[in-house]
Amino acid sequence: SREELAALLLGRIRDVADYPKPGIVFKDITPLLADPVAFGALTEALAAFATEQGATKVVGLEARGFILAAPVAVRAGLGFVPVRKAGKLPGATLSQSYDLEYGSAEMEIHAEDLTAQDRVLVIDDVLATGGTAEASLRLISRSGATVAGLGVLMELSFLGGASRVRAALDGAPYQAL
Ligand code: AMP
Repeated sequence: SREELAALLLGRIRDVADYPKPGIVFKDITPLLADPVAFGALTEALAAFATEQGATKVVGLEARGFILAAPVAVRAGLGFVPVRKAGKLPGATLSQSYDLEYGSAEMEIHAEDLTAQDRVLVIDDVLATGGTAEASLRLISRSGATVAGLGVLMELSFLGGASRVRAALDGAPYQAL
């Protein structure tokens, strides 16, 4: 069940207090990745989401989103496309900047990796403020492809990221497992 999956996954996420700076509780997913039962169950759930939504591509967000999205793409029989931090992709890119608490950040995608025919499931590990996911969803819309959904392992609901990404999802489904 949904609840059993959530309990399995949550039991493999380690809270690290005051990392990377004081006041932040970092959600460390490395115990989950090291457990083939939990990592397998997460992959299966996200691959089912991709199939249900008729996705044609799976996008992972740098860096931990890559680890989760790549096996989902293979499992669902779909291509994988990376959204990276600015300056890492060698080809022609679309880029989207967004505000952080201090300053701003920028995400990029290879323009030719998506077409107007694509339906894209976006995957990341943790949804915090939602800024990273929102910028990535905008990139996909700007590429001409359709957003099929957003799936994350975990949402820090007290930060309000879910309502922030809703607008960029434009009615497409959002799941935090
Ligand atoms: P945000 O743009 O605020 O939603 O931040 C999301 C990104 O930062 C994701 O790619 C996460 O991997 C990472 N992140 C933010 N907060 C945490 C946290 N408390 N623990 C682990 N990762 C986090």
